[in-house]
Amino acid sequence: MASSLQDLTFHLVTFGCQMNKHDSERIAGMLEALGAVPVGSIEEADVVAFITCCVREAADTRLYGQVASLKSLPLRPGTPLAKRLVAVGGCIGQRDRERLCQELPHVDAVFGTHNLGSLPQLLARAIEQGKAQVEVLEASDSFPTELPSDRERAWAAWLPITIGCDNFCSYCIVPHVRGREKSRPLEDVVAEAQGYVDAGVREVTLLGQNVNSYGRDLYGEPRFAEVLDAVDATGVERLRFATSHPKDLTDGVIGRFGTLRSLMPALHLPVQSGSDRILAAMNRRYTAEHYLSLVGKLRAVRPDIALSTDVIVGFPGETEEDFLATYRLIEEVGYNQVFTFIYSRREGTPAAALDDPTPPEVIQERFDRLVDLVQRRSFELNQPYLGRTLPVLVEGASKRDGAVLAGKDPYGSTVHAPVPEGRTAEGLAGTVVDVAIDQARTWYLAGEVTALHG
Ligand code: SF4
Repeated sequence: MASSLQDLTFHLVTFGCQMNKHDSERIAGMLEALGAVPVGSIEEADVVAFITCCVREAADTRLYGQVASLKSLPLRPGTPLAKRLVAVGGCIGQRDRERLCQELPHVDAVFGTHNLGSLPQLLARAIEQGKAQVEVLEASDSFPTELPSDRERAWAAWLPITIGCDNFCSYCIVPHVRGREKSRPLEDVVAEAQGYVDAGVREVTLLGQNVNSYGRDLYGEPRFAEVLDAVDATGVERLRFATSHPKDLTDGVIGRFGTLRSLMPALHLPVQSGSDRILAAMNRRYTAEHYLSLVGKLRAVRPDIALSTDVIVGFPGETEEDFLATYRLIEEVGYNQVFTFIYSRREGTPAAALDDPTPPEVIQERFDRLVDLVQRRSFELNQPYLGRTLPVLVEGASKRDGAVLAGKDPYGSTVHAPVPEGRTAEGLAGTVVDVAIDQARTWYLAGEVTALHG
């Protein structure tokens, strides 16, 4: 097996959420273990694998377009292959299966969300037989964490604690492509976290579609607060998690923001809408009042907690009144970051059958109004950080300027600062520096480095 991939070059293209990014790290680790060599571009690659997302139509269309464009791309000089191998995996693989090969005949391998580990065998068989291989499973008994990983950042790790989702929000395709929720045994989670800490990882992010319901399938009741306690006890420096469903966020988990040393004061808590009527139609199973009560409890425990959220504008049947309820909630909560989306109809979900009389230009106008609000509030909420000195975990150089470092403060905000003399941004990556904040912009903070902590 290893010989068929040995010395082939590969490039991964990843769409969508952190779970997909984590899956890509596993796929890269697996291919490298078999002797394949990662390269930075599609042009240099013998094997191109797409890890896909079908949550929104735009990403879906882009995937088909991008894969189609590979057909005419010249092979890299010196390749041992007669044709570039193209694999499509993840959510679109799971959903579209053979259709991918019918519409894109140059695709060689299709795999789903439950069998990342099959990719090497599929590629080997495609080389051997000279025809496309499709393998998609309905469920899996194992977690991708059992595969080797090539982490993008040595100092940070994503750690899936659940896969799949049982919530069936009416607009969402995820439960249909990721399957039912499955939790990983607590001792496996802790062992993996401890391994990361022992290897020098400073930040661990626990992942799941709804981390708050962790353990319900395995232990009969959610045990996410215990996961937080146990991972904190490994000695990790920074602990984060995503994503939280408001209906399952317990007082126990909220309380941990006040007691656990490593748990960062930042929480992504998707609200989706501020209208109870729309929340019910979305099958979110909480009200705006309940959501606001969670925000109140979080701020009572940790007054400086930074909140972020997701909002869908233009869900079928949304009226101006519904939209204003969302607008008021966003204004009232005061989020450091809001991810705004226009509703994207996904075939196969209950919401896809709902009629919507609202003209697209009305939805667009609401969306624009909301974006203006989000920008104004983000700018306002960043001002209190002026004059503070924050510990920043450096990620590397800022995208625009190699002489400026970029990293994250405990609140999850991006912080920029000129690289101190005699240092490089790359050299400081993975270390913590103190930054005295003297600029508070809409999307980032900036200042001067006052101390290096290594
Ligand atoms: S909680 Fe809802 S939105 Fe999130 S993945 Fe599950 S079904 Fe989709």
